[in-house]
Amino acid sequence: MAVKVGMIQLCGCSGCHISLLDLHEKLLEVLPNLEIVYAPIIADPKEIPEGIDVFLVEGGVRNEHDEHLLHEIREKSKIVIAWGTCAAYGGIPGLANLYTKEELLNTVYSTDSTENKGEIPSEEIPPLTEYVKPISDYIKVDYVIPGCPPTPKMIADAIIALLNGEEPKLPTKIVCDE
Ligand code: SF4
Repeated sequence: MAVKVGMIQLCGCSGCHISLLDLHEKLLEVLPNLEIVYAPIIADPKEIPEGIDVFLVEGGVRNEHDEHLLHEIREKSKIVIAWGTCAAYGGIPGLANLYTKEELLNTVYSTDSTENKGEIPSEEIPPLTEYVKPISDYIKVDYVIPGCPPTPKMIADAIIALLNGEEPKLPTKIVCDE
């Protein structure tokens, strides 16, 4: 029986998703065993379905909508994977933590390049959280696939191990010290 997989981009750049596509022909080994039931980057499903086996989460948490989705993902998934540095540690978007959210919003919406100059939209964007945070600050994470982005091989090996009911062999070091 195929493993039901979900994947999502929170506060990330899509690079982790692209890295999965970089598997090229090795995807053919993996895909027949997967049933991708939720992946907004591929289709636009309205709701996260129940009973997901493995959920790959790209990106950290930047706003209240991310936070809400993350809790729903945890409730509906057996295994949740922090997929890449942003999900695991905050990553590059975490540099925003050097500024207050007011400073960020004022900078973004007061430039000449925006139509609503100086006016911060209140309805179109979800409220920002105080800081960008890793997903493990909100939910229990089962595995971390590190890297920015993780290598295609690391992603494939982790998925194949899970398909075989094995523990994925993932790096335990977050910084190369050799
Ligand atoms: Fe993009 Fe790197 Fe973050 Fe993945 S870990 S979403 S590639 S910035």
